[in-house]
Amino acid sequence: MCGIVGYTGYRPAACIVVEGLKKLEYRGYDSFGVATKRNGLPIDCYKRQGRISEAEKAASMLKGTMGIGHTRWATHGVPNDVNAHPHSDCRRRIAVVHNGIIENYAGLKRGLIARGHCFSSETDTEVIAHLLEEEFNGDLVQAVQAVLPKLSGSYALLVMAEGDDRIIAARESSPLVIGVGDGEMFAASDMTPLLDHTERVIFLEDGDIAIITPGNVRILSGGVEVSRNVELIDWTCGDAKKGGFKHFMLKEIFEQPLVFSDTIRSVGVLPEGLARCNGTMVVACGTSYHAGMVFKYLLEEACSVPVRLELGSEFKYFTPPVTELVIGITQSGETADTLAALKKAKAHNCPTLAITNVLGSTVTRVADETLYMRAGPEISVAATKSFIAELAVLMQCVNHLSGGKFSEEIFRANRAIEEVLLLDLSAAVQACNIAKHIFFVGRGPFYAVALEGALKMKEISYIHAEGYAAGEIKHGPFALLSPETPVVAICMPGATYGVMVSNIKEMKARGTPVVVVGAAGDDELADISDVYIGLPNGGLMEELLMVTVVLQLLAYRTADSLGRDIDKPRNLAKSVTVE
Ligand code: GLU
Repeated sequence: MCGIVGYTGYRPAACIVVEGLKKLEYRGYDSFGVATKRNGLPIDCYKRQGRISEAEKAASMLKGTMGIGHTRWATHGVPNDVNAHPHSDCRRRIAVVHNGIIENYAGLKRGLIARGHCFSSETDTEVIAHLLEEEFNGDLVQAVQAVLPKLSGSYALLVMAEGDDRIIAARESSPLVIGVGDGEMFAASDMTPLLDHTERVIFLEDGDIAIITPGNVRILSGGVEVSRNVELIDWTCGDAKKGGFKHFMLKEIFEQPLVFSDTIRSVGVLPEGLARCNGTMVVACGTSYHAGMVFKYLLEEACSVPVRLELGSEFKYFTPPVTELVIGITQSGETADTLAALKKAKAHNCPTLAITNVLGSTVTRVADETLYMRAGPEISVAATKSFIAELAVLMQCVNHLSGGKFSEEIFRANRAIEEVLLLDLSAAVQACNIAKHIFFVGRGPFYAVALEGALKMKEISYIHAEGYAAGEIKHGPFALLSPETPVVAICMPGATYGVMVSNIKEMKARGTPVVVVGAAGDDELADISDVYIGLPNGGLMEELLMVTVVLQLLAYRTADSLGRDIDKPRNLAKSVTVE
């Protein structure tokens, strides 16, 4: 989680670091801080609780052409001014920003205190600054090399010290990217802060230590210098701006027709492991897990290939017997649980395939093969276009494996998405925004879409929402239905239509207001619904996409009507890089 940014060059570092942190705020936003350095002078530091937008002026005032910054998603110690990064040693000669968790910090801290160090924060991170203090005598690289073997856990680190002109970066199980400029260098947790400055990037690998000066980056691994490719990124800075939309989430929802067709076109020949598989296991978390569930329904139905679905967070510790291809889906390519699951699968000698949105991300190095989505940077914490892009990759895989059965449909599906973007959802919003609890129900692949709809609703509106397989409602949740608890029911034409209509009637009989998403022109269904959202005709894949988008917009408009902080919901962060 969290975002870190570093800069060294000829421009005022604080401004660049602050701008970069604003772009990374979606990774963590409970507190922030910046430290800068001028030759021969002590390190300046400004840090505080809250959002960077609330104090960016003060932070930007720091002087110097070299600096590091952090926007935090607290794991150890409450979000307050003192626990905000950068952290320092006793003499304030060293500044450290850190993403991740130092698992053995408690023992290290006891030892440091016994040796006379004074701690100011409750964070795990601060031990790094004090350990560096013990090792530092003018050469920061040597000090970092001496300290890293003492740490266990995960980290992306940037470190500066008085008396050394370099920024030292290091990573272990947490992402870190170097941006290569002309006479200036950047470092960041992901590419978004770099887009304004350069298109040349180096993705650090686990165990790397980078020594950064304005004109040069040297990388050490295992104590020896290594060379890493400079990659060209094709995201633009426009991709990471709101472009006139009220929120990033809305902009990203509206980008979905293009994202879907770009991604469909980019999935060429299937990776060998997938093309040959007789069965597969999907591991993923959150929204990506729901994409995996849609895939399971589609592939099993179209090709009779069994798909097992596992949560990344469970798989590592409760590994089911597995011999087949394991597919890990992660938008950021950095989701700790999914990475851990894929590593475990490899340890069992299973072939692995990653589906991700981020070039060069960790998952692309862990998995044997990778399929990319083409969603561009997704800034809003709630995933929308990355879900559609995951569906695009997975639907194209099903299409290929079924011998092209769905080609026509998926190549026109972008238009189906477009058609629902402007639907009037105000009546549905009114039914939802007064509720304390909402159920989302569907059957088959629409059950997966219902789960995703409920997740969107709860994360951005803070209304408790649950996704359920419609047939399961009678096995318990029925006890909760009442005129105050609306149900959003997905009832598209097809095999389960009749039984869904019966379920809707049963719920209505309990006085529950029902918002139904169905096919346009279905007057009978519209008659039994309190609010009816009719969608244009389409094939199954088009229907899945349209319903997904409608539920995203319902969550968005409901949250907006409640005045929620939509792009940065409380307690959440976008890329979940800790287990
Ligand atoms: N574990 C560190 C802390 O709680 C870093 C958290 C983060 O990645 O933002 O301060």
